[in-house]
Amino acid sequence: MKQKFILDPVTLTFKPHKPTFKQRLKSVGRYLTISFAIAALFFVVSILSGFSLTGKFFEKQNQTLIKELMALEKKFDKHSQDLAEIEEKDDILYRNFVGLNPLPPTIRQAGFGGTDRYHKFNILSNGRLLAKVFQKADLLENQIHIQQKSFDDIQSLGEEKVRYIAFVPSICPMRKSNYFRISDYFGTRFHPVFGEYKEHTGIDYAALPGTPVYASGGGVVAATGWDNGYGLRVLINHGYGYTTIYAHLQRIVVHVGDSIKRGKLLGFVGNTGVSTGPHLHYEVRLNNKPVNPIRYYIDDIPDDEYNQIAHK
Ligand SMILES: [Zn+2]
Repeated sequence: MKQKFILDPVTLTFKPHKPTFKQRLKSVGRYLTISFAIAALFFVVSILSGFSLTGKFFEKQNQTLIKELMALEKKFDKHSQDLAEIEEKDDILYRNFVGLNPLPPTIRQAGFGGTDRYHKFNILSNGRLLAKVFQKADLLENQIHIQQKSFDDIQSLGEEKVRYIAFVPSICPMRKSNYFRISDYFGTRFHPVFGEYKEHTGIDYAALPGTPVYASGGGVVAATGWDNGYGLRVLINHGYGYTTIYAHLQRIVVHVGDSIKRGKLLGFVGNTGVSTGPHLHYEVRLNNKPVNPIRYYIDDIPDDEYNQIAHK
């Protein structure tokens, strides 16, 4: 500290000033106050500038988030369009194929009811944008869930349809090259043995004795052996209400309870039961009522293809 001098009014000379303890204390106190004031000022300035920097930082981050959110919204829109194409195919092709009606838009576009779900975003700046993006995401999630359910339904119905196609009678029980002719069609005809008009309950194929006879669809052998006018016959239960009968056989090679596929060899043409010559009487019944077997033939199958089916 610098030495201070004061003027002595009596001697008119300067004398070194010796401050009292109180004066010294006061002086130190002044210095401390000023120092604290300066420090406090620095502190406040630094805090304010800090706030300002932090504010800018968050503002920048916020802008980036908004941009990302908008990009996300566009992505959801694109996925939504892609899904709409899948839904259209589902309605027009897949569901139609298995006999299902298209899903109405009220089901496909089902939301979550009201906007309460997104109210929590209201307190945020840009909360509306966030709510909109969330709503799109939720809708998309729901649509995907419904689409998955639709595919599941189609798959199980498709499998059922494949099963149905495999089981229902749908081919001629003899190779075309193996019989001479159809000697009798389904319907009313003059019966050669009984000498009167009778309902013919099946189709007759005139063929040489011993000609192979095949199952017209998959199923289970329900009966074999003699059955009155049918002679030696095989009865197959195909499920779905369908049964088939192969009558007047010479010999049978399957057994009751056998699970068989379409084309399985059942036996051979004979002349057993009420018959005027070697032939196969083939009958299709739906809920035990004879129906015209011709309706259950798929279009002409080439011999080689038939051979393949017959030997599966
Ligand atoms: Zn017949």
